Amino acid sequence: MPQNEMNYARLLRDYEETRNRHLYEQKERREAVYKEVPALAGLDRQIAEASVSAARAALDGDTAALNHLEEHNRQISEQKKALLTSAGYAPNYLELTYTCPDCKDTGFIGTEKCHCFKQALTFALSEASTLPYRLEKENFDTFSFSYYDDRTADPQLPVTPRENMKQIVTDAKKFVDEFDTTPRSLLIYGNTGVGKTFLTNCIAKALLDTAHHVVYMTSHGLFETFENHRFHHADEDDASLYRYIFDCDLLIIDDLGTEVANAFTNSMLYTCINERLLHRKSTIISTNFSLDQLKACYSERIFSRITGDYTLWKLFGKDIRALKRMERSFS
Ligand SMILES: [Zn+2]
Repeated sequence: MPQNEMNYARLLRDYEETRNRHLYEQKERREAVYKEVPALAGLDRQIAEASVSAARAALDGDTAALNHLEEHNRQISEQKKALLTSAGYAPNYLELTYTCPDCKDTGFIGTEKCHCFKQALTFALSEASTLPYRLEKENFDTFSFSYYDDRTADPQLPVTPRENMKQIVTDAKKFVDEFDTTPRSLLIYGNTGVGKTFLTNCIAKALLDTAHHVVYMTSHGLFETFENHRFHHADEDDASLYRYIFDCDLLIIDDLGTEVANAFTNSMLYTCINERLLHRKSTIISTNFSLDQLKACYSERIFSRITGDYTLWKLFGKDIRALKRMERSFS
């Protein structure tokens, strides 16, 4: 089976599992509540019996039967809500829940892919399928300033690492809040281990939670996709991912500078950055490079687009990964 169909088939199976899980959880809730409030079971039985007899009556030509059923069920449903509330439950406690209410966990709205399906496909295609799990741990709620020193400021710098990070996190939250109205693009730069990826993940999580389409690519993966599209026979997956790189709400290019740069990568990077700016689409680039190194490695027009049109966040401080390793070895 071609890769594309495999991805589709796997995703559709995941959706089916999700629907089954919600049905199972609903059944569990119902059984537990029936034990506590037996009258609810009686009301559900009334609904079921009324539906059967209304269907029979309709078949026998009683045209009003289905209207009566609707009214009957509405009344019973009000009684159920009242019983649930008085037992301390939310009135909709027994209703079926959805991971994505927009498509009711089918992946499609009509014949169009739902945003959740497009996102799931993006994760599968961009080899970022573990990202959602990582985002459960790396988000604004789990962000800690304690790894950033508040005392030993570099005399060259106007603020301490912690103060710098506080300002940046405040601006990152503003970036998220204003994402739909005032899209910005960001360059997050600084040495290894100062929290660039963590910060990017905080933003990605906040935007994914509000149903935005986020494409996360390492710079290596990004250029590989460009090359496949340009030089090799691109399959449907490559074509989708290529389109998503330009169309998505937020493109994250992680670790720019680790790819093998050449005239082609330079030209594609410019096209990507420029097209997205023209269409007011946000991009986040993270890199270990300093501004001088960026200038030396990329064309003048890339450098001037980034420094002219992006918000620049310089992160500094101690290597957090090294600090965490030390914490673990002492704990
Ligand atoms: Zn959906």
